[in-house]
Amino acid sequence: ARLRVAAIPLPAPRAGEPRQQTMLVEVSTPTRAAKARLQALGLDLTEHGDARSLDVVLHGVADEARLRAAGFAYEIEIPDMLARQAENRLRDARYALRVKRSSLPSRRDDYRRLPDFEADMKALAERRPDLVKPIVLPHRTLEGRPVQGIEITKDADRADGKPVYLQLGVHHAREWPSGEMPMEFAFELVNGYGSSERITGLVDRVRTIVVPVVNPDGYNLSREAPVDLRGLGTTAPLTRAIFDVIGATGLYEVLGPDTSGLVNQAGGNPGGIAAILLDAQSGNFAYKRRNCRITDGQAPAPGECAMSDNRELGTDPNRNYAGFWGGPGASVSPTADDYRGTAPFSEPETQNIRELVSSRQVTTLITNHTYSDLVLRPPGVAAEGTTPDEPIYKALGDAMGQATAYNSQYGHELYDTTGTTEDWSYFQTGGLGYTFEIGPHEFHPPYEQVINEYEGRAPTPVDAIGRPQKQGGNREAYLLAMESTADTERHSVLTGRGSPGARLEISRSAMHLTSPVIAEDGRTGDPLTLSETAGSALTVPADGTFSWHVNPSTRPYAQKDRSTILPADAPASREEISGAPVPPVNLIPVQVGPGDPPFLKASIAGAGASDDYDLYLYRGSLPVPSEEVASSATPSNSEQFTVKDLPPGRYTLEVRNFSATGSWSGAVERYANGRTVGLPPATEAWKLTCTSAAGDVLGTRTVTVARGQRQDLGAVCSESAGAFSAALERRRLRAALRRGNLRGRVRCATACRVSTTLSVDARTARRLGLTRARRAVVVARGSRRTFTGRRTYSLRFTKAARRRLRAARTVRLRMVATARSGATRQTVRRTYVLRR
Ligand SMILES: [Zn+2]
Repeated sequence: ARLRVAAIPLPAPRAGEPRQQTMLVEVSTPTRAAKARLQALGLDLTEHGDARSLDVVLHGVADEARLRAAGFAYEIEIPDMLARQAENRLRDARYALRVKRSSLPSRRDDYRRLPDFEADMKALAERRPDLVKPIVLPHRTLEGRPVQGIEITKDADRADGKPVYLQLGVHHAREWPSGEMPMEFAFELVNGYGSSERITGLVDRVRTIVVPVVNPDGYNLSREAPVDLRGLGTTAPLTRAIFDVIGATGLYEVLGPDTSGLVNQAGGNPGGIAAILLDAQSGNFAYKRRNCRITDGQAPAPGECAMSDNRELGTDPNRNYAGFWGGPGASVSPTADDYRGTAPFSEPETQNIRELVSSRQVTTLITNHTYSDLVLRPPGVAAEGTTPDEPIYKALGDAMGQATAYNSQYGHELYDTTGTTEDWSYFQTGGLGYTFEIGPHEFHPPYEQVINEYEGRAPTPVDAIGRPQKQGGNREAYLLAMESTADTERHSVLTGRGSPGARLEISRSAMHLTSPVIAEDGRTGDPLTLSETAGSALTVPADGTFSWHVNPSTRPYAQKDRSTILPADAPASREEISGAPVPPVNLIPVQVGPGDPPFLKASIAGAGASDDYDLYLYRGSLPVPSEEVASSATPSNSEQFTVKDLPPGRYTLEVRNFSATGSWSGAVERYANGRTVGLPPATEAWKLTCTSAAGDVLGTRTVTVARGQRQDLGAVCSESAGAFSAALERRRLRAALRRGNLRGRVRCATACRVSTTLSVDARTARRLGLTRARRAVVVARGSRRTFTGRRTYSLRFTKAARRRLRAARTVRLRMVATARSGATRQTVRRTYVLRR
């Protein structure tokens, strides 16, 4: 299809002249006489009316004045009918497209608007409540929107220990297909359950979580942005532009007389630069990338994010994760499109995904973006080298690349990026994460192209230039990733026995360093330290056996040495150096011997503040040194660098006069190894806890498990060493107060001593007059000296509690019972409601 669109700007109203607006009003005509009088005014009456009113079209201010002068009351129904007309035309065109029913699983024929995603997820959950469970992520966006998703698996409500497959879309607002793809995949799974053997098997074995729009604030702005052609070109406003759109391909040419700032996308540059230029000049939001962070640390005021002055602001959610955050590959500047934010996870969008991934065993993650025809795997920074899981990582990446005809490659092959989704999720959890850059060009191409990408249908212009054919498209790639999620060779499995209905939890807390943080002035500071907590839970099924699909206990991040040795505080040797501004280049020989201290530091300073010298170190000797080893050449009057572990040999230090008239002096120093900072490689373990339905800890242990390993843990809820339970005997409040105590029951499998408190929350405590502060108050205490087996003991009320609690009709008591056995400690927390 070829579509020609001509856009001609409306004339702007002249100063002082009211705008001639066509509006629809409802005029109050409560009597027949009133209707007759209205008719006599000669206005554009419609046939729409009732006993009390008539609808009238007012063509401009003169009509309106006439109606007012005649004393009629009216209400405006449509203030600008021309605008409405245009809107309706658009709506009609969309409707016509939509009723064709596409071949997508949902049959859609147009990009969803934000509410459509929400409605579709709701509809799927209503259709198959056994398969689909709606979820809302913990943090609302800066504009207050909930971030929603669905979980899809057989018996979706159970905490069942299946491997988890996470599909994410729209980190970047303008990348509309990135939301469509995971949403369609959700339909695919629900539609295919029971009819496709492959899908049924996968949905039975894998829990798929779909969050189609991670950044709903940004998406909403982009999706709803009106395209105002009048705004094109800042220096020479476009007077008339004709877009020649070649429907299925998403290519267009601008044929109008004023094409300043526009690039013909069809010719030579399929990179979509034209779209970016267009956007930067028109000031509209269709190509907004980031979230709504207008002011660091603050939520925007209502409407603030949509003000055209603020279009250039926001944090890039895909540069805000903690993985390598602070390094090159993300911007420090709030106006840059890849602004990293003030700190890792400073944004609600990334906090949401962090908490989701940290509370599940996400063994495979796909985060969708547009565009570039790429399947990217970590690392996003070249300096990291390859990951310890490269063989399986590459195998799945390449298979998905074949399905989509996208290039399968490392994230950094495009350019270094830091703070991206999978550079955090993979290194901190071990779950394989990929970025899809969907489609050959354009952030949101014609919808038909989205369908072709999903279904892997050719032809696209890519095939015309001889690139490989798609073999199944994104649909197939997503299914391959789901099969990989189910593959026990690619994660770890814990099996064992436990009390039916008991809750098993595994958790791990570990440290993580960001990159050394590049500051606004370009200097590199220390890395930031984060605590990364991961864990998940499972309910032991009725047959008392469990099979738990988890990520390896040791993070990929911890498998590599993340420590750095700093130089000792004081130098082992020091050689003074100095020189004059002429000659402009001073060469100083430096000898490195086999037994020398590992650090070599060179530093110089010009005598005056404006004496700018630069400093270089070369391998080799005079007069022709080669191969630069280090340099420091800033616009200041002092320079320094430190190099480590230079191979023994001759070196040459060069001091070059950049713009100095005074002399310079400095030193060459050698340093021995000093203290070590950072994290050495480590083997990490999951901590497993079994808790009864009543809240008693029945067993704990640590579990070390590697990728591809299956471990049988045996009975994990048995009364093993340290097993402890505690409960309160239920009594009437009045009787307990009269006696002055409550009775508790405890059980220790091995010799232990127990101490217990009962407290009321801050509000109750204040209400009862137990405190004026805002804190919980202990109302009873009890303890039991060392014993083994079962015992009862007494918990005595405090004097104040005994007096004040009499006023209470019911009271909620929080019990904290702690058992100590040698160095180990176990705590049982339970809540009881006592009635008078
Ligand atoms: Zn993106």
